[in-house]
Amino acid sequence: MPDAGCRTPDGYRSCYRREMPSPVGHMLGGVIAGWLVAGAPSRPATGSAAGAGRGRWAGFARLSGGSPADRRLWIATLAFAVLGALADADFLFGTHSTYSHSVGAVAVVALAAIAVVRRDRLRWALAAAVAYGSHILLDWMGNDTTPPIGIMALWPFTTDFYQSEFYVFMAISRRYWLDNFWSHNLTAVAREIAVLLPLLLTTWWVRRSRNRRALPARRPEAAPQSPPQST
Ligand SMILES: [Zn+2]
Repeated sequence: MPDAGCRTPDGYRSCYRREMPSPVGHMLGGVIAGWLVAGAPSRPATGSAAGAGRGRWAGFARLSGGSPADRRLWIATLAFAVLGALADADFLFGTHSTYSHSVGAVAVVALAAIAVVRRDRLRWALAAAVAYGSHILLDWMGNDTTPPIGIMALWPFTTDFYQSEFYVFMAISRRYWLDNFWSHNLTAVAREIAVLLPLLLTTWWVRRSRNRRALPARRPEAAPQSPPQST
């Protein structure tokens, strides 16, 4: 599709560069990456939840499978989704696809995770860094159509912009005044889901299995004690 520029019906206006992919794709990518490192939670429990306890978190504990490990992983999954999309917050500062889309930003996220997490720091820091870094990988594989093309992936070592020569994801259009705005963007999001959802399900299946194997086996129910026989 030829680039229509940033012309509105009533004249030129400044416009952001196209974003690639959408937040949907980035959140899926963040969860996939985080699960690969940290493991995926088990399926939400449908029956009794051992260890769910009482109190304000009991409902969430039941929903998340009940075990403390699963609860941590469900909370981490939300964090991975946010981290996967976080780099595009640079839209707010007019620096899109630059510093926040770089290995330097990944290092900052890892250091922040080390500072925040109390236990198992290296594992969670690596998972957070990989979830955040998935954004850079997906953008690199996206179709950017407005110069400077690509992302400043290797900052602070260089301020050059990089983009893959093969496009997996379509550019998301912000040109709402064009006729194909909705059809184009819905097609782009559908393509992201078609590519990433199978990867997400596969990752969940593989990492959930490992997570389950890591859990201690349930102890057999204690047999009811019969009263002592009187002789
Ligand atoms: Zn981005």
